[in-house]
Amino acid sequence: MLVDTFKRKIDYLRVSLTKQCNFRCQYCMPDTPDDFFDNTALALPKLLEFIKVAIDNGITKIRITGGEPLLRPDIAEFIAGIYAHKPSDPNTNIEIALTTNGFLLERFAQSLKDAGLKRINISLDSLKPERVKAISKRDALPQILRGIESAQRVGLGVKLNMVALVQTRDEICDMLEFGRTRGVLVRFIEFMENTHANSTLIPLTSSEILETIASRYKITPLFKEHFGPAKLFSIDAKSKDGRPYAFGIIAPHEDDFCASCNRIRLTSEGVLCPCLFYQDSVNAREAIVSGDKETMSTLLKQAVHNKPEKNQWSAEQISERAFYHTGG
Ligand code: SAM
Ligand code: SF4
Repeated sequence: MLVDTFKRKIDYLRVSLTKQCNFRCQYCMPDTPDDFFDNTALALPKLLEFIKVAIDNGITKIRITGGEPLLRPDIAEFIAGIYAHKPSDPNTNIEIALTTNGFLLERFAQSLKDAGLKRINISLDSLKPERVKAISKRDALPQILRGIESAQRVGLGVKLNMVALVQTRDEICDMLEFGRTRGVLVRFIEFMENTHANSTLIPLTSSEILETIASRYKITPLFKEHFGPAKLFSIDAKSKDGRPYAFGIIAPHEDDFCASCNRIRLTSEGVLCPCLFYQDSVNAREAIVSGDKETMSTLLKQAVHNKPEKNQWSAEQISERAFYHTGG
């Protein structure tokens, strides 16, 4: 079992498969050249070996992210490979989820499901085609919507992620209605300031998100979600299953956000990041490339040991860490 110096159990690994992306979201990588090619990403079989080591050390939840993870054509085999690994404790239940911008999902949904994937998070910042284009620099809304439909059709559990901004505040309730009528959880993410983002974006705080929703619905706080950092709430309108519809808020600026942190991150080039906003990382690339399991295990423990008590997100202190490197 992995436990950090603040007695938090670390059982969640986020793995970025590439820095490359087919979008250029304003809050992530708006200025990256269109022809940017990631030549540092490790081969998926190499990353798989690290994940097996992580599982043997007590990791039970794995999120696959990027950049855009569906740009790796062998992703379904990779997921199947994780499920095929038998943890040293046979009672361990490994959960895998994937975060995608949804653009290529229509093509991949069935093979991901066949590989054993159960859950998928899809980023969706607007229901207006022009706004999606302005945010992502891709005329992508129709494809994203088809991706969502395909994921639901093949039986993947779908959650939607919206980065909440003053610029998109007018769509928060529309997004809730979209999720409610389709029976999918919508999670609003506080914009996390970073030097790669468009500096004209204005973040919405979790209180402002709640105020916006409270203007239309009565809100009841629920609990923290099982696989993810969101606090859940319900509204006085029913979901498809007849129960009050629930939504989530991910608020890294809030004081209690880090107290329950259970995660560690691996970048596509093999660097372990103890915290999304923290520069003290551990380079495991050489060990991963050479397949040295013992050193991988030691470096993983070192990264867990390096976890800070709290992140440092604030409007004054801007992180230099790029979301498309760390995977968010
Ligand atoms: N490309 C995939 C996607 O967009 O879903 C996966 C990678 S993306 C870096 C992972 C998550 O980070 C997405 O939900 C995205 O909205 C979120 N994200 C990116 N930049 C962010 C920022 N500055 N603040 C908050 N969330 C951000
Ligand atoms: Fe790409 Fe995801 Fe970053 Fe948008 S948030 S640019 S889709 S990696």
